[in-house]
Parts: sequence; C-alpha cells; structure tokens
Amino acid sequence: MNVVLLGPPGAGKGTQAKVLEEKFGLLHVSTGDILRSAVKNGTEIGKKAKSYMTRGELVPDLIVIDLVKERISKDDGKKGFLLDGFPRTERQAEELDKALGEMKRSVDKVLYFKTSPSVSVKRLSGRRVCKVCGANFHLVNMPPKRQGICDYCDGALIQRNDDTEATINNRLRVYESETGPLIGYYKKEGTLEEVNGDLDVKELFQNIRKFFSEKK
Ligand code: AMP
Repeated sequence: MNVVLLGPPGAGKGTQAKVLEEKFGLLHVSTGDILRSAVKNGTEIGKKAKSYMTRGELVPDLIVIDLVKERISKDDGKKGFLLDGFPRTERQAEELDKALGEMKRSVDKVLYFKTSPSVSVKRLSGRRVCKVCGANFHLVNMPPKRQGICDYCDGALIQRNDDTEATINNRLRVYESETGPLIGYYKKEGTLEEVNGDLDVKELFQNIRKFFSEKK
C-alpha cells in the first residue's frame, strides 16, 4: 500500500509515519529527512538545498523528484511506502503519478492531516530534535526524560534552524500557496481521506489505523 501523508508543517505527519512504519511494515520516506542528511553530509544536493531550507522555501522540484524516485525504487519499498513531506507541489504530484505508473503502482491513499495554524505553530516552536539520531521531542507534548538529552542515544537536543518563528510563518505560507492545491488534486483522484491533525499522537493514530492492515 502506497500512502501520501499530506498536511502543513507541524501536522504530525512524521510522528505518525514512525508509528505506522513500525506497526505496518511500510517504508517511511521523508524528503525533509533526506535533504537534512544531504546538508549535514555536505553533498552536492545538500549544498543546493541548504539556503532554500533555511528560509523555509521549497527546494526545486527536479531535485526532490529525483530523490524520491530513487528512494522508492529500492527493494525495501516493495511492500509499500509512506511519503512524508512529498509531494508538495502539483508538479511533484504529477511526476509521482507518472513514476509510479511506470512501476505499475499507484498512490493508494492520501491522508490529509487537517490542522489549525495555531496548533502547527505550537508544535513546531516547541519541537526539539536529537543532533545525533534525529529523534523528535516536544518541550510540552513529548518531553525527553532528561532535559536537553535524547532518550534513545544520549545525544544533545537542538532546535531545527527552520523551527524559528519567522521561518515557521513562511513555511505555513508556502504550504498554503504551493501544497494546498494538492487537496483538490487528490480529491479528484478519489484517494483523499481527511483526518484531524489537531488530535494528540495516540488519538490520531487510533483514527488512522483503520486505513491500514496489520503487518504479517
Ligand atoms: P520538512 O521536514 O518536511 O518540514 O521539510 C523541511 C524543508 O525541506 C522544507 O521546508 C523544504 O525546504 C524542504 N523540502 C522537504 N520536502 C520537500 C519537497 N517535497 N519539495 C520541496 N522542498 C522540500
């Protein structure tokens, strides 16, 4: 089953994707994570993407489309995948459909996390991530056991440089103008399911799980 997780930054897509990946054995593909790792490793793609990401703008379509095509063609995505943060423009959605068509696959479901801007802002501004393993925490909703230290690897927790107030506002604006139209795109395709992104992690998962079947 191939699923797109659609919704604004701070909707909880990444958090749900981690739970869904574990529970249903689907591959979690986050373009944000792939790009951050490219930036950290100083690759050519990372160098090109860095300034867009810092400003909260979208990285050019061609770069992300190629990254995703390469990632989902690997063997570990055969059982299905969860696309988190992709597609973000109509062009990306069209290219995804085309690439999947060539693989005799398709987007089976699009979960649209409808989320209030005030909830997104609170989640993003309180988010802290582990510098070493990338695990996510939240100062209020999901605090680490020890302040500033990752529960899983003892790494230091930091704030993402695009989780600052000015950049958060820009990311939400970019979402509305560039990604918002995808709601209509997938409605037309008949794959869109709306879920309430304002719910907390557990409640939201209970609402989403019915769309998936248990891992064998
Ligand atoms: P995210 O972790 O999904 O919030 O993504 C962080 C940043 O990576 C975004 O603000 C964009 O700059 C970039 N990015 C991630 N996914 C995409 C995409 N599908 N298209 C363009 N830029 C992206």
